[in-house]
Amino acid sequence: MSAPRDRFDAIVVGAGVVGAMLALTLSRSGRRVALVESREPVGWDGGSPGLRVVALAADAVDQLKALEVWPAIAARRAHPYRRMRVWDAAGGGELDFDADRFGQPELGWIVELDLVAASLWEALGRERGLRRMCPARVEHLEQDGDRATLGLDDGTRVAAPLVVAADGAGSTLRGLAGIEVDAHAYDQRGLVAYVGTEHPHQDTAWQRFLPGGPVAFLPVADGRCSIVWSLPDAEATRLLEVTDEQFMRELERAFDGRLGAITSVSQRAAFPLRRQLARSYVAGRVVLAGDAAHAVHPLAGQGVNLGLRDAACLQRLVEAAGARDIGAAHRLARYQRERRSDNVIAAWAFDGINRVFSSDALAPTLLRGKALGLANAVPGLARRLWRHAAGR
Ligand SMILES: Cc1cc2nc3c(=O)[nH]c(=O)nc-3n(C[C@H](O)[C@H](O)[C@H](O)COP(=O)(O)OP(=O)(O)OC[C@H]3O[C@@H](n4cnc5c(N)ncnc54)[C@H](O)[C@@H]3O)c2cc1C
Repeated sequence: MSAPRDRFDAIVVGAGVVGAMLALTLSRSGRRVALVESREPVGWDGGSPGLRVVALAADAVDQLKALEVWPAIAARRAHPYRRMRVWDAAGGGELDFDADRFGQPELGWIVELDLVAASLWEALGRERGLRRMCPARVEHLEQDGDRATLGLDDGTRVAAPLVVAADGAGSTLRGLAGIEVDAHAYDQRGLVAYVGTEHPHQDTAWQRFLPGGPVAFLPVADGRCSIVWSLPDAEATRLLEVTDEQFMRELERAFDGRLGAITSVSQRAAFPLRRQLARSYVAGRVVLAGDAAHAVHPLAGQGVNLGLRDAACLQRLVEAAGARDIGAAHRLARYQRERRSDNVIAAWAFDGINRVFSSDALAPTLLRGKALGLANAVPGLARRLWRHAAGR
């Protein structure tokens, strides 16, 4: 790399929800930020809803509100969920969270991933101290004592004392920084679609555990449900190919007819599921955030929420640095200490739940029914579980 380089306080690579949120929050606190994104932005035209839908926890929505991005999302297409019902096909027992019980108006919000990313992208366009470099792909990394320099595929070079890899589970920058991952394929895929149901969704997020993986119904604004059905690979392939009628029949059975008949289904898509944990979050002045650091099973709907907690933690540490070096080794080590344990515990917890609830053996089957019932009945336990999931 030889061309002259542009210098920033921080460079964020990847404008998914995590990278875009971090870039915006750093810029709002007065830092000069470059955001490098390889794909042209999707934009949001209010047409048919995107298939990738996430359940945002209360703290994630608070972050979006603090950045004044939430009103644009809420005005377009977001739907609150006020209750959660979780039950097991074989073991019995039911877990029931209700916002009223926790003195909250809602437990969280169901939103399209593309809508959140597009709303953040628009807000980023209004930031004077921020440069969006798009489409541009990171290809090289060099590090010396006080800065990291990135070489982009258009020949540009950019340098900063802090570089954040938020470029997703297949992160190029993580590879360039020499950080390895421990990866486990679940041999499952998350099949997603929108479905209409005979009975209203009641602003409730529903999840039923089945031996092949859980099926979740999330309430959306037009009255339909967005489903995430975790299935063994071969089963997911089959269910992508069957007719709509056949799919609706099988889904209705899998969901135990809890909302009556399935009356319509949209186009379907499926995403491979894996647990992937980076062995380190820091290499010199490069840090990992979001899926670049941790990919988790979607059964608890926590992937984006964990990534946004990474972003909030980094922002706090940068803010506390004031005029001092924001990419100093001790600061980044602290980020790793604070976030890695939280993310690793979450990844293994979701892994354990997936295993226990996918087992046909008698002991786990009896135990999980009891566990769900217990979580509901023990005073204060449901509240603690919710507070943890909501980041409160
Ligand atoms: C089926 C399914 C359901 C899910 N449901 C939920 C849920 O309910 N709640 C929840 O919280 N999470 C959920 N998740 C997880 C969630 O979708 C992810 O955790 C989240 O989208 C990751 O965001 P990110 O910004 O870290 O990465 P990404 O969204 O992957 O963004 C990475 C960005 O980096 C860019 N990029 C890549 N390489 C380069 C490069 N070399 N140079 C420049 N840019 C680059 C990409 O174009 C992309 O824009 C679910 C996941 C699945 C599979």
